[in-house]
Amino acid sequence: MHSFRYIQNRLHCESTDLESLAQKHGTPLYVYSKETITSHFTRLDGALNEVDHLICYAVKANSNLAVLHTIAKLGGGFDIVSGGELFRVLKAGGSASKCTFAGVGKTRGEIEFALHEGIYSFNAESESELRHLNQIAGDLGKKAPVALRVNPNVDAGTHAKITTGKKENKFGVEFERVIDAYAAVAQDCPHLEIRGVQMHIGSQLTSIDPFVQAVQKVAPLVEQLKEKHQLQFFSIGGGIGIVYRESLDSGDPSWWGDKPESDRPLTIGAYASALVPLLAPLKLRILLEPGRFMVGNAGALLTKVLHLKQGGAKKFVIVDAGMNDLIRPTLYEGWHQIAPLNKPATNTLEKVDVVGPICETGDFLAQDRELPPVHEGDTLAVLSAGAYGFTMASNYNTRPMPAEILVDGTKAHVVRERQTLDDLIRGEHIPSD
Ligand SMILES: *Cc1c(COP(=O)(O)O)cnc(C)c1O
Repeated sequence: MHSFRYIQNRLHCESTDLESLAQKHGTPLYVYSKETITSHFTRLDGALNEVDHLICYAVKANSNLAVLHTIAKLGGGFDIVSGGELFRVLKAGGSASKCTFAGVGKTRGEIEFALHEGIYSFNAESESELRHLNQIAGDLGKKAPVALRVNPNVDAGTHAKITTGKKENKFGVEFERVIDAYAAVAQDCPHLEIRGVQMHIGSQLTSIDPFVQAVQKVAPLVEQLKEKHQLQFFSIGGGIGIVYRESLDSGDPSWWGDKPESDRPLTIGAYASALVPLLAPLKLRILLEPGRFMVGNAGALLTKVLHLKQGGAKKFVIVDAGMNDLIRPTLYEGWHQIAPLNKPATNTLEKVDVVGPICETGDFLAQDRELPPVHEGDTLAVLSAGAYGFTMASNYNTRPMPAEILVDGTKAHVVRERQTLDDLIRGEHIPSD
Protein backbone atom coordinates (compact mmCIF):
# COMPACT_ATOMS: atom_id res chain seq x y z
CA MET A 1 0.00 0.00 0.00
CA HIS A 2 1.07 3.56 -0.41
CA SER A 3 -0.27 7.06 -0.35
CA PHE A 4 1.00 8.27 -3.74
CA ARG A 5 -1.67 8.83 -6.37
CA TYR A 6 -2.79 11.15 -9.12
CA ILE A 7 -5.39 13.66 -8.07
CA GLN A 8 -6.59 15.78 -11.00
CA ASN A 9 -3.67 14.50 -13.04
CA ARG A 10 -1.04 15.66 -10.56
CA LEU A 11 0.83 13.17 -8.44
CA HIS A 12 0.22 13.64 -4.74
CA CYS A 13 1.62 12.18 -1.55
CA GLU A 14 -1.43 12.00 0.72
CA SER A 15 -3.04 15.42 0.08
CA THR A 16 0.19 17.18 -0.83
CA ASP A 17 1.00 18.08 -4.43
CA LEU A 18 4.50 16.79 -5.23
CA GLU A 19 5.31 19.37 -7.93
CA SER A 20 4.88 22.13 -5.36
CA LEU A 21 7.27 20.31 -3.01
CA ALA A 22 9.85 19.91 -5.78
CA GLN A 23 9.60 23.60 -6.62
CA LYS A 24 9.86 24.72 -3.03
CA HIS A 25 12.62 22.38 -1.85
CA GLY A 26 14.48 21.51 -5.06
CA THR A 27 15.47 18.08 -6.38
CA PRO A 28 16.61 15.38 -5.81
CA LEU A 29 14.16 15.20 -2.91
CA TYR A 30 13.01 12.30 -0.76
CA VAL A 31 9.36 12.47 0.28
CA TYR A 32 7.83 10.12 2.84
CA SER A 33 4.21 9.51 3.77
CA LYS A 34 3.48 9.33 7.48
CA GLU A 35 0.14 7.68 6.68
CA THR A 36 1.79 4.80 4.83
CA ILE A 37 4.25 4.13 7.66
CA THR A 38 1.50 4.28 10.26
CA SER A 39 -0.86 2.02 8.36
CA HIS A 40 1.84 -0.56 7.67
CA PHE A 41 2.78 -0.64 11.33
CA THR A 42 -0.78 -0.94 12.61
CA ARG A 43 -1.70 -3.55 10.02
CA LEU A 44 1.21 -5.79 10.94
CA ASP A 45 0.68 -5.18 14.64
CA GLY A 46 -3.00 -6.07 14.33
CA ALA A 47 -2.32 -9.24 12.31
CA LEU A 48 -0.19 -10.55 15.19
CA ASN A 49 -2.47 -9.76 18.07
CA GLU A 50 -2.97 -13.43 18.89
CA VAL A 51 0.62 -13.70 20.10
CA ASP A 52 2.58 -11.59 22.57
CA HIS A 53 4.80 -9.64 20.17
CA LEU A 54 7.00 -6.63 19.61
CA ILE A 55 7.73 -5.08 16.23
CA CYS A 56 11.38 -4.02 16.20
CA TYR A 57 11.67 -1.84 13.11
CA ALA A 58 15.01 -2.38 11.31
CA VAL A 59 16.49 1.10 11.50
CA LYS A 60 18.92 0.60 8.62
CA ALA A 61 16.03 0.72 6.11
CA ASN A 62 15.37 4.39 6.88
CA SER A 63 16.90 6.03 9.92
CA ASN A 64 15.56 9.57 9.67
CA LEU A 65 14.70 10.81 13.18
CA ALA A 66 11.15 11.71 12.16
CA VAL A 67 10.55 8.20 10.81
CA LEU A 68 11.94 6.66 14.01
CA HIS A 69 9.83 9.03 16.10
CA THR A 70 6.69 8.01 14.20
CA ILE A 71 7.39 4.34 14.92
CA ALA A 72 8.33 4.95 18.56
CA LYS A 73 5.01 6.77 19.08
CA LEU A 74 3.16 3.75 17.67
CA GLY A 75 4.79 1.61 20.36
CA GLY A 76 7.41 0.03 18.14
CA GLY A 77 10.83 -1.15 19.17
CA PHE A 78 13.92 -1.12 16.97
CA ASP A 79 16.44 -3.49 15.50
CA ILE A 80 19.77 -1.70 15.33
CA VAL A 81 23.08 -2.67 13.75
CA SER A 82 25.41 0.01 15.15
CA GLY A 83 25.98 2.41 18.03
CA GLY A 84 25.07 5.19 15.62
CA GLU A 85 21.64 3.69 15.07
CA LEU A 86 21.11 3.39 18.84
CA PHE A 87 22.03 7.07 19.18
CA ARG A 88 19.42 7.94 16.55
CA VAL A 89 16.73 5.83 18.26
CA LEU A 90 17.37 7.57 21.58
CA LYS A 91 17.34 11.03 19.94
CA ALA A 92 14.03 10.14 18.27
CA GLY A 93 12.39 9.27 21.59
CA GLY A 94 12.77 5.48 21.36
CA SER A 95 13.81 3.31 24.26
CA ALA A 96 16.84 1.01 24.41
CA SER A 97 14.72 -1.43 26.41
CA LYS A 98 12.83 -2.13 23.17
CA CYS A 99 15.97 -2.44 21.02
CA THR A 100 17.76 -5.49 19.73
CA PHE A 101 21.32 -5.10 18.51
CA ALA A 102 22.21 -7.22 15.46
CA GLY A 103 25.36 -7.51 13.36
CA VAL A 104 28.40 -9.75 13.01
CA GLY A 105 30.97 -7.21 14.20
CA LYS A 106 29.99 -5.06 17.17
CA THR A 107 32.85 -3.02 18.67
CA ARG A 108 33.68 -2.62 22.35
CA GLY A 109 32.56 1.01 22.24
CA GLU A 110 29.20 0.07 20.74
CA ILE A 111 28.66 -2.73 23.25
CA GLU A 112 29.49 -0.48 26.20
CA PHE A 113 27.12 2.19 24.92
CA ALA A 114 24.28 -0.31 24.44
CA LEU A 115 24.87 -1.91 27.86
CA HIS A 116 24.90 1.49 29.50
CA GLU A 117 21.58 2.42 27.84
CA GLY A 118 19.93 -0.88 28.83
CA ILE A 119 19.52 -2.64 25.51
CA TYR A 120 16.88 -5.43 25.43
CA SER A 121 19.12 -7.94 23.67
CA PHE A 122 22.40 -8.31 21.86
CA ASN A 123 21.71 -10.69 19.01
CA ALA A 124 25.09 -12.37 18.84
CA GLU A 125 26.28 -13.95 15.62
CA SER A 126 29.19 -16.11 16.78
CA GLU A 127 30.57 -17.90 19.81
CA SER A 128 33.55 -15.58 19.75
CA GLU A 129 31.22 -12.58 19.97
CA LEU A 130 29.54 -14.16 23.03
CA ARG A 131 32.90 -14.41 24.80
CA HIS A 132 33.63 -10.80 23.86
CA LEU A 133 30.24 -9.67 25.25
CA ASN A 134 30.82 -11.66 28.44
CA GLN A 135 34.22 -10.03 28.93
CA ILE A 136 32.95 -6.47 28.40
CA ALA A 137 29.87 -6.95 30.59
CA GLY A 138 32.13 -8.38 33.31
CA ASP A 139 34.49 -5.41 33.06
CA LEU A 140 31.55 -3.06 33.57
CA GLY A 141 30.06 -5.15 36.37
CA LYS A 142 26.90 -5.72 34.32
CA LYS A 143 25.02 -8.64 32.78
CA ALA A 144 24.57 -8.52 29.04
CA PRO A 145 21.21 -9.79 27.74
CA VAL A 146 21.80 -12.01 24.71
CA ALA A 147 20.18 -14.05 22.01
CA LEU A 148 21.97 -16.13 19.44
CA ARG A 149 21.25 -15.69 15.76
CA VAL A 150 20.55 -19.08 14.25
CA ASN A 151 21.44 -19.68 10.64
CA PRO A 152 18.71 -22.11 9.61
CA ASN A 153 20.25 -22.87 6.19
CA VAL A 154 17.06 -22.03 4.33
CA ASP A 155 17.08 -20.38 0.90
CA ALA A 156 15.01 -17.20 0.99
CA GLY A 157 14.65 -17.29 -2.79
CA THR A 158 15.58 -13.61 -3.08
CA HIS A 159 18.50 -11.70 -4.66
CA ALA A 160 21.89 -13.21 -3.74
CA LYS A 161 23.05 -9.94 -2.12
CA ILE A 162 20.13 -9.96 0.33
CA THR A 163 20.08 -13.66 1.19
CA THR A 164 21.33 -14.16 4.76
CA GLY A 165 20.10 -17.53 6.04
CA LYS A 166 22.15 -20.00 4.01
CA LYS A 167 25.13 -21.77 5.49
CA GLU A 168 27.57 -20.03 3.10
CA ASN A 169 26.43 -16.61 4.38
CA LYS A 170 28.40 -14.85 7.12
CA PHE A 171 25.35 -14.48 9.37
CA GLY A 172 24.40 -16.41 12.47
CA VAL A 173 25.56 -19.63 14.10
CA GLU A 174 25.31 -22.90 12.25
CA PHE A 175 22.02 -24.63 13.07
CA GLU A 176 23.75 -27.82 14.26
CA ARG A 177 25.97 -25.91 16.73
CA VAL A 178 23.30 -23.82 18.41
CA ILE A 179 22.40 -26.15 21.30
CA ASP A 180 26.08 -26.48 22.25
CA ALA A 181 26.63 -22.73 21.99
CA TYR A 182 23.78 -22.02 24.43
CA ALA A 183 25.14 -24.67 26.81
CA ALA A 184 28.57 -23.03 26.65
CA VAL A 185 27.10 -19.63 27.45
CA ALA A 186 25.22 -21.03 30.44
CA GLN A 187 28.36 -22.71 31.70
CA ASP A 188 31.20 -20.35 30.89
CA CYS A 189 29.69 -16.86 30.62
CA PRO A 190 28.55 -15.62 34.02
CA HIS A 191 28.11 -12.08 32.72
CA LEU A 192 25.57 -13.03 30.06
CA GLU A 193 21.85 -13.48 30.52
CA ILE A 194 20.20 -15.61 27.86
CA ARG A 195 17.00 -13.93 26.65
CA GLY A 196 16.09 -15.39 23.30
CA VAL A 197 16.72 -16.90 19.90
CA GLN A 198 16.86 -14.90 16.71
CA MET A 199 16.95 -15.53 12.97
CA HIS A 200 16.67 -13.45 9.78
CA ILE A 201 16.84 -15.30 6.48
CA GLY A 202 16.89 -12.48 3.95
CA SER A 203 15.19 -9.44 2.52
CA GLN A 204 12.42 -8.77 -0.03
CA LEU A 205 10.92 -12.26 0.32
CA THR A 206 7.91 -12.47 -1.94
CA SER A 207 6.80 -15.97 -0.96
CA ILE A 208 5.69 -17.27 2.42
CA ASP A 209 7.35 -20.67 1.96
CA PRO A 210 10.89 -19.80 3.15
CA PHE A 211 9.47 -18.13 6.29
CA VAL A 212 7.41 -21.23 7.05
CA GLN A 213 10.35 -23.55 6.37
CA ALA A 214 12.63 -21.54 8.65
CA VAL A 215 10.12 -21.28 11.50
CA GLN A 216 9.27 -24.99 11.22
CA LYS A 217 12.95 -25.83 11.38
CA VAL A 218 13.88 -23.53 14.26
CA ALA A 219 10.74 -23.75 16.46
CA PRO A 220 11.58 -27.21 17.89
CA LEU A 221 15.04 -25.92 18.75
CA VAL A 222 13.49 -22.91 20.49
CA GLU A 223 11.18 -25.24 22.40
CA GLN A 224 14.17 -27.24 23.60
CA LEU A 225 16.18 -24.15 24.57
CA LYS A 226 13.22 -22.55 26.30
CA GLU A 227 13.12 -25.29 28.90
CA LYS A 228 16.83 -25.13 29.64
CA HIS A 229 17.50 -21.41 29.51
CA GLN A 230 14.37 -19.47 30.48
CA LEU A 231 13.94 -17.78 27.12
CA GLN A 232 11.79 -14.66 26.86
CA PHE A 233 11.60 -14.24 23.11
CA PHE A 234 11.94 -15.70 19.63
CA SER A 235 12.71 -13.20 16.89
CA ILE A 236 11.79 -14.31 13.39
CA GLY A 237 13.60 -11.38 11.77
CA GLY A 238 12.40 -9.16 8.95
CA GLY A 239 12.36 -9.70 5.22
CA ILE A 240 8.70 -9.21 4.29
CA GLY A 241 8.76 -8.22 0.61
CA ILE A 242 6.86 -5.29 -0.84
CA VAL A 243 5.22 -4.63 -4.21
CA TYR A 244 7.33 -2.29 -6.32
CA ARG A 245 4.67 -1.93 -9.07
CA GLU A 246 1.63 -0.01 -7.96
CA SER A 247 -1.33 1.73 -9.53
CA LEU A 248 -1.16 5.49 -9.10
CA ASP A 249 -4.71 6.21 -10.17
CA SER A 250 -7.03 7.77 -7.69
CA GLY A 251 -10.05 5.64 -7.07
CA ASP A 252 -7.87 2.57 -7.16
CA PRO A 253 -7.79 0.98 -3.71
CA SER A 254 -4.55 2.17 -2.23
CA TRP A 255 -4.12 -1.02 -0.22
CA TRP A 256 -2.32 -3.59 -2.27
CA GLY A 257 -3.79 -5.94 0.28
CA ASP A 258 -7.15 -5.33 -1.40
CA LYS A 259 -5.99 -6.71 -4.72
CA PRO A 260 -6.79 -10.30 -5.70
CA GLU A 261 -4.45 -12.85 -4.13
CA SER A 262 -2.90 -13.66 -7.50
CA ASP A 263 -1.72 -10.06 -8.00
CA ARG A 264 0.26 -9.80 -4.80
CA PRO A 265 3.31 -11.72 -3.78
CA LEU A 266 2.92 -11.71 -0.01
CA THR A 267 0.25 -10.13 2.13
CA ILE A 268 0.30 -9.48 5.82
CA GLY A 269 -2.81 -11.62 6.18
CA ALA A 270 -1.07 -14.58 4.53
CA TYR A 271 2.13 -13.98 6.52
CA ALA A 272 0.33 -13.90 9.86
CA SER A 273 -2.05 -16.77 9.17
CA ALA A 274 0.83 -19.04 8.11
CA LEU A 275 3.16 -18.15 10.97
CA VAL A 276 1.00 -17.39 14.01
CA PRO A 277 -0.19 -21.04 14.39
CA LEU A 278 3.46 -22.15 14.36
CA LEU A 279 4.55 -19.48 16.84
CA ALA A 280 1.68 -19.35 19.34
CA PRO A 281 2.38 -22.78 20.94
CA LEU A 282 5.88 -21.60 21.94
CA LYS A 283 4.28 -19.19 24.42
CA LEU A 284 7.14 -16.75 24.00
CA ARG A 285 7.28 -13.11 23.07
CA ILE A 286 7.59 -13.02 19.26
CA LEU A 287 9.81 -10.31 17.82
CA LEU A 288 9.68 -9.13 14.21
CA GLU A 289 12.26 -6.95 12.53
CA PRO A 290 10.63 -5.52 9.42
CA GLY A 291 12.51 -2.74 7.66
CA ARG A 292 11.50 -2.53 4.02
CA PHE A 293 7.87 -3.45 4.74
CA MET A 294 7.48 -0.52 7.10
CA VAL A 295 8.94 2.24 4.95
CA GLY A 296 9.61 1.02 1.40
CA ASN A 297 6.32 2.02 -0.19
CA ALA A 298 6.20 5.13 2.00
CA GLY A 299 8.91 7.00 0.10
CA ALA A 300 9.48 8.54 -3.31
CA LEU A 301 12.56 10.19 -4.74
CA LEU A 302 11.71 13.24 -6.86
CA THR A 303 14.15 14.03 -9.63
CA LYS A 304 14.26 16.53 -12.45
CA VAL A 305 14.96 15.72 -16.10
CA LEU A 306 18.10 17.60 -17.11
CA HIS A 307 18.61 16.36 -20.68
CA LEU A 308 17.38 13.90 -23.24
CA LYS A 309 20.09 12.21 -25.23
CA GLN A 310 19.95 9.82 -28.16
CA GLY A 311 22.95 7.50 -27.91
CA GLY A 312 24.14 5.08 -30.58
CA ALA A 313 21.88 2.30 -29.35
CA LYS A 314 19.68 3.76 -26.63
CA LYS A 315 17.77 6.84 -25.62
CA PHE A 316 18.83 8.30 -22.29
CA VAL A 317 16.81 10.42 -19.89
CA ILE A 318 19.43 12.19 -17.80
CA VAL A 319 18.09 13.19 -14.38
CA ASP A 320 19.54 15.02 -11.39
CA ALA A 321 19.39 11.99 -9.04
CA GLY A 322 22.07 9.35 -9.31
CA MET A 323 23.33 6.15 -7.78
CA ASN A 324 24.68 8.19 -4.88
CA ASP A 325 21.07 9.12 -4.01
CA LEU A 326 19.50 5.70 -4.72
CA ILE A 327 21.84 2.77 -5.19
CA ARG A 328 19.31 -0.09 -5.28
CA PRO A 329 18.97 -0.35 -9.07
CA THR A 330 22.69 -0.81 -9.63
CA LEU A 331 23.52 -2.68 -6.42
CA TYR A 332 20.62 -5.12 -6.24
CA GLU A 333 19.08 -4.85 -9.71
CA GLY A 334 16.24 -3.17 -7.81
CA TRP A 335 13.25 -2.17 -9.93
CA HIS A 336 11.55 1.12 -9.11
CA GLN A 337 8.44 2.42 -10.78
CA ILE A 338 9.06 5.84 -12.34
CA ALA A 339 6.17 8.23 -12.97
CA PRO A 340 5.96 11.83 -14.18
CA LEU A 341 4.41 14.23 -11.65
CA ASN A 342 2.00 15.43 -14.32
CA LYS A 343 -0.03 12.55 -15.63
CA PRO A 344 0.67 12.12 -19.35
CA ALA A 345 -2.24 12.77 -21.68
CA THR A 346 -1.24 9.98 -24.09
CA ASN A 347 -0.74 6.26 -23.72
CA THR A 348 2.37 6.28 -25.91
CA LEU A 349 5.41 4.71 -24.35
CA GLU A 350 9.03 4.93 -25.29
CA LYS A 351 11.87 2.68 -24.19
CA VAL A 352 14.58 4.66 -22.36
CA ASP A 353 17.33 4.36 -19.79
CA VAL A 354 16.91 6.75 -16.88
CA VAL A 355 20.44 7.68 -15.79
CA GLY A 356 22.07 10.03 -13.29
CA PRO A 357 24.92 12.51 -13.57
CA ILE A 358 27.55 10.31 -11.86
CA CYS A 359 30.66 9.28 -13.75
CA GLU A 360 29.93 5.55 -13.64
CA THR A 361 28.30 3.26 -16.18
CA GLY A 362 26.43 1.69 -13.28
CA ASP A 363 24.75 5.02 -12.55
CA PHE A 364 21.17 4.31 -13.60
CA LEU A 365 17.75 4.35 -12.00
CA ALA A 366 16.09 2.26 -14.72
CA GLN A 367 17.19 0.45 -17.88
CA ASP A 368 15.12 -0.32 -20.98
CA ARG A 369 12.09 1.19 -19.30
CA GLU A 370 8.87 1.99 -21.15
CA LEU A 371 8.01 5.52 -20.08
CA PRO A 372 5.54 8.09 -21.40
CA PRO A 373 7.31 10.85 -23.36
CA VAL A 374 9.27 13.04 -20.95
CA HIS A 375 10.70 16.50 -21.56
CA GLU A 376 13.58 18.49 -20.19
CA GLY A 377 12.46 20.22 -17.01
CA ASP A 378 9.84 17.58 -16.10
CA THR A 379 9.96 16.14 -12.61
CA LEU A 380 9.73 12.38 -12.14
CA ALA A 381 8.91 10.37 -9.04
CA VAL A 382 10.93 7.23 -8.39
CA LEU A 383 8.48 5.29 -6.24
CA SER A 384 8.84 2.89 -3.32
CA ALA A 385 12.22 4.41 -2.48
CA GLY A 386 11.57 4.76 1.24
CA ALA A 387 13.71 1.76 2.25
CA TYR A 388 17.45 1.47 1.59
CA GLY A 389 17.24 4.76 -0.31
CA PHE A 390 18.50 7.70 1.70
CA THR A 391 20.27 5.44 4.22
CA MET A 392 22.52 4.13 1.45
CA ALA A 393 23.08 7.56 -0.11
CA SER A 394 26.60 8.94 -0.27
CA ASN A 395 28.49 12.04 -1.23
CA TYR A 396 30.18 10.30 -4.17
CA ASN A 397 31.19 12.80 -6.86
CA THR A 398 30.97 15.38 -4.02
CA ARG A 399 27.24 15.72 -4.41
CA PRO A 400 25.25 17.06 -1.46
CA MET A 401 22.75 14.57 -0.05
CA PRO A 402 19.12 15.35 -0.80
CA ALA A 403 16.63 16.87 1.63
CA GLU A 404 13.97 14.65 3.18
CA ILE A 405 10.34 15.61 3.67
CA LEU A 406 7.71 13.90 5.82
CA VAL A 407 4.19 14.49 4.55
CA ASP A 408 1.27 14.33 6.96
CA GLY A 409 -1.94 15.05 5.06
CA THR A 410 -1.57 18.55 3.62
CA LYS A 411 1.45 19.32 5.81
CA ALA A 412 5.00 18.78 4.59
CA HIS A 413 7.79 18.88 7.17
CA VAL A 414 11.45 19.21 6.24
CA VAL A 415 12.87 16.36 8.34
CA ARG A 416 16.38 16.70 6.97
CA GLU A 417 17.83 19.70 5.24
CA ARG A 418 19.61 19.40 1.95
CA GLN A 419 23.36 19.40 2.49
CA THR A 420 25.20 22.58 1.63
CA LEU A 421 28.61 22.88 -0.04
CA ASP A 422 30.10 23.64 3.38
CA ASP A 423 28.59 20.41 4.75
CA LEU A 424 30.52 18.55 2.07
CA ILE A 425 33.92 19.55 3.45
CA ARG A 426 33.03 19.72 7.15
CA GLY A 427 35.76 18.15 9.25
CA GLU A 428 38.40 18.18 6.50
CA HIS A 429 41.77 19.84 7.06
CA ILE A 430 44.68 20.83 4.88
CA PRO A 431 47.99 20.30 6.76
CA SER A 432 50.08 23.47 6.87
CA ASP A 433 53.01 23.35 4.39
C1 LIG B 1 18.31 -5.79 7.51
C2 LIG B 1 17.77 -6.60 8.62
C3 LIG B 1 16.38 -6.65 8.85
C4 LIG B 1 15.38 -5.96 7.96
O1 LIG B 1 15.20 -6.56 6.73
P1 LIG B 1 14.00 -6.10 5.77
O2 LIG B 1 14.14 -6.96 4.59
O3 LIG B 1 14.22 -4.67 5.45
O4 LIG B 1 12.73 -6.33 6.51
C5 LIG B 1 15.95 -7.37 9.95
N1 LIG B 1 16.81 -8.02 10.76
C6 LIG B 1 18.13 -8.01 10.57
C7 LIG B 1 19.02 -8.73 11.50
C8 LIG B 1 18.65 -7.30 9.50
O5 LIG B 1 19.97 -7.28 9.29
